[in-house]
Amino acid sequence: MKTDLFINNEWRPALSGKRFPVVNPATEEVIADVAAGDAADIDNAVAAARGCFESAAWRDLSARKRGRLLTKAADLLESRLEEFARLETAHNGKTLFESKIELGMTVSTLRYYGGWADKITGETLPVEGPFFTYTLREPIGVVGAIVPWNFPLNIASWKFAPALAAGCTVVLKPASETPLTALAFAELVLEVGFPAGAFNVVPGGGTTAGAALVRHPDVDKISFTGSTEVGRHIMKLAADTNKRVTLELGGKSPNIIFADADLKAAVRGAQTGIFYGKGEVCAAGSRLLVERAVHDQVVAQLAEGAKKLTPGDPLDKNTRLGALVSKRQQETVLSYIQKGLDEGAQLVAGGKAVKPNGKGYYVEATVFDRVEPGMTIAREEIFGPVLAVLSFDDFDHGVKLANQTMYGLAAGIWTKDILKAQRAARAIRAGTVWINSYNSYDSGAPFGGFKASGFGRDLGREALDGYLETKTVWVGL
Ligand code: NAP
Ligand code: MG
Repeated sequence: MKTDLFINNEWRPALSGKRFPVVNPATEEVIADVAAGDAADIDNAVAAARGCFESAAWRDLSARKRGRLLTKAADLLESRLEEFARLETAHNGKTLFESKIELGMTVSTLRYYGGWADKITGETLPVEGPFFTYTLREPIGVVGAIVPWNFPLNIASWKFAPALAAGCTVVLKPASETPLTALAFAELVLEVGFPAGAFNVVPGGGTTAGAALVRHPDVDKISFTGSTEVGRHIMKLAADTNKRVTLELGGKSPNIIFADADLKAAVRGAQTGIFYGKGEVCAAGSRLLVERAVHDQVVAQLAEGAKKLTPGDPLDKNTRLGALVSKRQQETVLSYIQKGLDEGAQLVAGGKAVKPNGKGYYVEATVFDRVEPGMTIAREEIFGPVLAVLSFDDFDHGVKLANQTMYGLAAGIWTKDILKAQRAARAIRAGTVWINSYNSYDSGAPFGGFKASGFGRDLGREALDGYLETKTVWVGL
């Protein structure tokens, strides 16, 4: 496996010679020693990306051929999906079942944006006067992509695929816990034949390599997914060089069960909403709002389901709850569980760290009932398998609770009343609303936040706008 930096289609150690360990959180073993890039390596990667952006090799490549590179990368990744899924599981701890879904989505995203490359068009404009006036959509330039550890290659592809389709070049800084699939993908980039410098990967610390990328005067745009705190910091840093930014940040998404819902489906949705991906999902339905009339019934079913969802070896094909990404994340999640208990919420399932095979950073599927809106576990993003259940009296109360958060990433609504569902969908301030469904994604459907969950969109046609400038051309007639 390649563990050096990928710059200008070459594998290079960090200039400092430094490396950092990558740990498998299910086995607690070090599985790789990866080159730790810092500001000097970022300089080289940005120079390569800039050089490529201005070179004939990239500029003169037709949009159709650019798109073909992406679809070829999709085909290659698809042919090696099992191997990539195992690698994703090895550094992240999610189940192989989930890694395969994630990598399948990555294939789809590469293909989707490969298809867009030759369909990016401007407009002709009916202006006053003797002019022929039109717009061109041009690539923004060099894009710095900074991504988290929860869907390592997939979220990276949400950024580099539309960026490359738009004609930008990319420097990708993966999360320190999970750099391996981005590096493995770089091997596919070489095989597919992207020009040198179009796609670069520089693993390294957030405050070193990451911050250097954000500060770099030759980077035109930063596309970031991660915590709200780091996102705010990046926005400030980026201001010094007038960089464009897209920020996908945290969430505390409400999943609302009305009394007239198909309760079996709703409970299943509540469960996958919080326990899929170990709850390390930005859009996790971490606040379950249940209409009082069905509260006891729903909580009983949820607790029963959570107790059956035992954490286990992520490589076992029957496991549905893997290991948390790191010891640090496990400690964070456990400290939130303790806060829930201290502040008086009622633990009805889970709550403990476990080691299924004597090793690993696992936390049980945890459900808290009788959570009040002011409690820490109702307000803060936990990023783990911990559900906070609140109850509400009627429609207005439910919607009010749903919006009682600084975040606005996603929401779920469970009801058989189609009008009620539409009214709730309009009233909730969030970037994605799922009705009688949760955690549904598609490469063609935009995803991103309102409020403190960020701005700009990944996926869909909208994501392309984040990598394009509009140039208006006036021709005097
Ligand atoms: P994080 O600490 O914000 O890190 C995200 C990325 O930013 C990592 O690559 C990190 O590098 C880098 N970074 C950290 N400090 C930086 C700085 N000062 N300048 C530039 N880059 C910096 O988040 P995380 O711990 O990886 O992931 C968990 C958080 O991400 C959660 O709060 C979750 O809500 C959020 N998230 C949001 C979405 C979404 O789509 N909205 C998706 C996934 C996760 P290092 O790894 O080296 O620290
Ligand atoms: Mg971090």
